[in-house]
Amino acid sequence: MYVFRTVTGIRKHLDQQHGAVIGFIPTMGALHDGHLSLMVQAKEKCTLTVTSIFVNPTQFNDPEDLARYPRTLDHDLNVLLQENCGVAFVPEVEEVYPAGQNEPPLDLGGLDQSMEGMHRPGHFQGVAQVVRRLLEIVQPEFLYMGQKDFQQGAIVGHMIKTLGLPVTLVMCPTVRESNGLAMSSRNELLDPEIRSRASLLYKTLNYAADALGAGSIEKIQHECLQKLEAPGFKPEYFEIVDGHTLKPATQDTNFVVACCAVWAGDVRLIDNLILRDV
Ligand code: AMP
Repeated sequence: MYVFRTVTGIRKHLDQQHGAVIGFIPTMGALHDGHLSLMVQAKEKCTLTVTSIFVNPTQFNDPEDLARYPRTLDHDLNVLLQENCGVAFVPEVEEVYPAGQNEPPLDLGGLDQSMEGMHRPGHFQGVAQVVRRLLEIVQPEFLYMGQKDFQQGAIVGHMIKTLGLPVTLVMCPTVRESNGLAMSSRNELLDPEIRSRASLLYKTLNYAADALGAGSIEKIQHECLQKLEAPGFKPEYFEIVDGHTLKPATQDTNFVVACCAVWAGDVRLIDNLILRDV
């Protein structure tokens, strides 16, 4: 595996890989099986996998969250080596954002005007900015992202389309712990007792899936919010949306997704479930 810290270094290497089909997996590190599932999918279609590890400061709206985000670079590089990753890209902030390069905000098609976008101002501009920049550097054929961050995937898909970027986005299913908790680097920060009860999110999403069709959507959302008000947990939102527009779903919507954000102790978790896709 080759490890590069500079744009010049990785570009020089990739420019020599004539004919390679590059699959790119952007991550913020603290790698877990959710990340690895993206690599497995990339290896099925691509001849060269490139994984970036970069804790992107511009997508953190809360400086405390950025400061305590887990950073486990040695472990991550070992994992990538074992997974036969071709190239690891681990840049410093200055490599990704050279001084003086000040881009105007990107068109996110209004997809940032709900859910995570409302609770984390500026977050999706930061995500779109870093994904665009990393795509410019790596120039992959395929980009692998997780359904775990559903709204993020929708926004990146929109950006790729509107900018006409020559890359295909592949959305991979959410990998869960044995109790149903979606894997996340932030799970490591959870209090063990709360972590053992954090299956509550997945259970609640499944309740919504079962209830869809039986009751009104507003009623289901209300019930789910109540379920998430358990000791140690505090929901920020539970929304049932059209998976294409991210606007509130109706009983006639074909692609229905439930998304939630919940404080579990002092750790903020997000999760989602596709309730209907016809
Ligand atoms: P992160 O390091 O959290 O920014 O995640 C990097 C990529 O891995 C993103 O595309 C995430 O959606 C994806 N990812 C994170 N957790 C999971 C999971 N549990 N299952 C599938 N993909 C995931």
